[in-house]
Amino acid sequence: MITVENLTKSFQGVNALNGVTLDVEAGTVLGVVGPSGAGKSTLARCVALLERPDSGAIRVDGTDITSLDGSALRAARRQIGVVPQGDSLLRQRTAAGNIALPLESAGVPGPQRRTRVGELLDLVGLTDKAGAYPDQLSGGQRQRIAVARALAANPSVLLADEPTSALDPETTGSVLTVLDRARAELGVTVLVVTHDMGVVRKICDDVAVLEQGRVVEHGKVLDLVNDAASRTSSALLPAVD
Ligand code: ATP
Ligand code: MG
Repeated sequence: MITVENLTKSFQGVNALNGVTLDVEAGTVLGVVGPSGAGKSTLARCVALLERPDSGAIRVDGTDITSLDGSALRAARRQIGVVPQGDSLLRQRTAAGNIALPLESAGVPGPQRRTRVGELLDLVGLTDKAGAYPDQLSGGQRQRIAVARALAANPSVLLADEPTSALDPETTGSVLTVLDRARAELGVTVLVVTHDMGVVRKICDDVAVLEQGRVVEHGKVLDLVNDAASRTSSALLPAVD
């Protein structure tokens, strides 16, 4: 369970987050949508502990993670897997080498690491691509490897920032299947940032609409599709077929 309370973050006078409050129930998928510059990535980066908010709280299973330091911060970061916005794989490492990275950082011994990498390649359906370099993979395959890497250290939370932007609908489906398996088979709580209401409809239980650093809608996907109150969600809805 993730609870975000009144989160604020500004950059040189720009209020990226303006008092964001939302929650994600354990084992569910929350979609975060909204226009460019709304603060979606900033929110995801704060929850991932890559950015420190100016004020507010982020509770993961009841513990506020915003004020942690040192080893407690590193331990909390390991609980949170991140698929960053854009291409994020190391080009000089194979698919298996990329997935192994967080395990190497955590000091997992070689034999266990290889077993775990094998399990993750299987989870994302890319066992045959273990030795391929990112340049030899399609965009969708690269994103599935990025998801596998984010799941390597067994996090309880997975954050994915626009994991399907720049992918065609078919390839998008394969990435969504992987996110759905993470939730269904590993019980991971997922927060996915997207501009694609098709993604929200396919895998999200709940959706939060961000506008200018504020949550203007937050609820069950089905309710939002049936009753769009804000201009943002109305504008996004024609994308739902
Ligand atoms: P997009 O859909 O384009 O990815 P977003 O909703 O993810 O947009 P953010 O990247 O969170 O938006 O940015 C929110 C606001 O904060 C924007 O006005 C942006 O310019 C600003 N911002 C974000 N990161 C920084 C930074 N490191 N330095 C300065 N300004 C920033
Ligand atoms: Mg963004």
